[in-house]
Amino acid sequence: MNSKAAQDNRSEAQVAARLSSIRIVLINTTHPGNIGATARAMKVMGLRQLHLVAPKVFPSAEATAMASGADDLLQRAVVHDSLESALEGCSLVLGTSARLRSLSMPQMDLRKAAESALAEQHGRDIAILFGMERYGLTNEEIQRCHQLVHIDTNPDYGSLNLAQAVQVMAYELRMAAIGEPGTHVEPSDWAPVDAGQMELFFTHLEQTLLDIQFLNPDQPKRLMARLRRLFNRARPDQNEINILRGILAASQRAAKKDLT
Ligand code: SAH
Repeated sequence: MNSKAAQDNRSEAQVAARLSSIRIVLINTTHPGNIGATARAMKVMGLRQLHLVAPKVFPSAEATAMASGADDLLQRAVVHDSLESALEGCSLVLGTSARLRSLSMPQMDLRKAAESALAEQHGRDIAILFGMERYGLTNEEIQRCHQLVHIDTNPDYGSLNLAQAVQVMAYELRMAAIGEPGTHVEPSDWAPVDAGQMELFFTHLEQTLLDIQFLNPDQPKRLMARLRRLFNRARPDQNEINILRGILAASQRAAKKDLT
């Protein structure tokens, strides 16, 4: 079905409802104009949830000017001092990146990413992260993501302006919201835990690996990055997290007994 025909079958209210769980998260944005232009890019496509992590300047007249009628989104924007807080209640975290990284992460093309974001129907939000203008997402921020999304570009000149990257993503999300629903249906008894619970699990995992002397405290980074990627790929639900944490607690008890 082409998008015009599909749109005839779906009202704007239905499209907006499908897009309502999407959070656009801008991290450490330097130029307030980009925040305003992002609000505009979102509103024209029907997105409403703007989250800002430690913006350099906000609110600002420049942001309001660039928002040009989308300043209601700026007023409702939620400002966080940490990424962790911006991800609270999110079950899926997608990171956008202008280039490939050394520890390669699962990557999705933009269209698939938009479809998979819209296919999540667990009553939790989906976060799409956009990095700082100069450096993009840090490795630590990328480790919070389930998938990386790259907007295909000229390989010799592939870095879009931040708000323009949001615009392209927002358009694809709208197309996915208009398109046929239910092409990718998850099992009804599977609801992945949110980002906060995954962080608690990773902290517990790291501590256990130290306790059982598997993790070298002098060089912890690479191992934890790999394990994060593994468990983020698995997208565990609450039962599975309970089992894993039970195994960790039992390992810690056994290690303690061994030492005494
Ligand atoms: N120099 C940085 C570019 C940052 S551009 C780098 O090489 O990573 C600012 C943000 O815009 C990026 O963090 C990303 O969120 C988004 N962006 C820019 N170009 C993109 C592309 N081709 N695909 C996906 N996101 C892109």
